[in-house]
Amino acid sequence: MKTYRIATIPGDGIGKEVIPAGRRIMQELAAQDGLRFEFQDFDWGGDYYRKHGVMMPADGLDALRDQDAILFGSAGDPHIADHITLWGLRLKICQGFDQYANVRPTRILPGIDAPLKRCTPEQLNWVIVRENSEGEYSGVGGRVHQGHPIEAATDVSIMTRAGVERILRFAFKLAQSRPRKLLTVITKSNAQRHAMVMWDEIALQVSREFPDVTWDKELVDAATARMVNRPASLDTIVATNLHADILSDLAAALAGSLGIAPTGNIDPERRYPSMFEPIHGSAFDIMGKGLANPVGTFWSVVMLLEHLGETQAAARLMQAIESVTADPQLHTGDLGGSATTGQVTEAVCAKLAALAPAKAA
Ligand code: NAD
Ligand code: MN
Repeated sequence: MKTYRIATIPGDGIGKEVIPAGRRIMQELAAQDGLRFEFQDFDWGGDYYRKHGVMMPADGLDALRDQDAILFGSAGDPHIADHITLWGLRLKICQGFDQYANVRPTRILPGIDAPLKRCTPEQLNWVIVRENSEGEYSGVGGRVHQGHPIEAATDVSIMTRAGVERILRFAFKLAQSRPRKLLTVITKSNAQRHAMVMWDEIALQVSREFPDVTWDKELVDAATARMVNRPASLDTIVATNLHADILSDLAAALAGSLGIAPTGNIDPERRYPSMFEPIHGSAFDIMGKGLANPVGTFWSVVMLLEHLGETQAAARLMQAIESVTADPQLHTGDLGGSATTGQVTEAVCAKLAALAPAKAA
């Protein structure tokens, strides 16, 4: 039996509630599926920062390097500036392990009342691929003359041919693996006339390797309207770091709630562990109350299991999640219900037990 080494990093806010719930689900799966997980928990985040002045230790990446995967909660503390918490933890791991493909599936799960009335739940089935290593989040820039009237600041967006080519190739490959073989490449190449024009050119070049994939281009502002008005015209979507960040929160809201949406920060070459997390943040308004929806974390565990090749366990967990969302009694506040994190977690565990493969006699 293979033992998987899983690092858990709850981080801040509701991360401390949903990650233990995710771990509980994985333990339940392991008990029934003959899987073995060896968990190592890391207490990095805002509390660690208050004690040590950094969000994670300088050699933190070394402690993660040999893990098979990372399950991450959220970085963001009400008393520490957001750019410090984000860059000090999550981006350090994403960039340190070159997890350049951020994959964000969106579907309307059973029982969920999504705001889009122009499509059936079956017609909204997207996966957004976010460039996760450069672009607007390359961290290049500076501030001078702080506080003076002549103050100036820059955030330079860096796009490299290597970076753009590898994310576009990843997206074409993903589109090719899905039934519709349909890809939309999103840029802003009318206004941003250098790097975004390069994206368009590279997209055309890479597309020649995938003659069976149908693809089109859309400007990011038009893409938001298309997501609302013609959701079924989209399937796989690829965009820059910032554009896809924004589009995926929209996607999550259109599918019912930010609390449901999962993501994987993937190193497709598998040189480093990949990291899976709900796309939501620390949710200061509900943290510490047991109200957080754990479904985004559970769906992220599904992605984690798929990444490890445990497709049967992944499918069974997804089935358990969907049968729980189908019951409005088990909806948390973000979905209009009154269930707690604990109740949803126990319901998914019970469903997993009911779906467990029959043990050999
Ligand atoms: P947020 O995702 O934390 O919250 C937005 C809204 O959605 C809030 O009303 C919240 O209550 C609700 N919500 C989010 N997740 C939910 C869940 N699981 N169940 C129920 N309701 C949920 O976004 P924000 O308010 O912009 O950010 C708060 C903090 O989190 C900031 O410090 C931000 O930088 C950080 N953040 C971190 C990450 C990350 O680590 N990946 C992502 C986004 C935001
Ligand atoms: Mn985001």
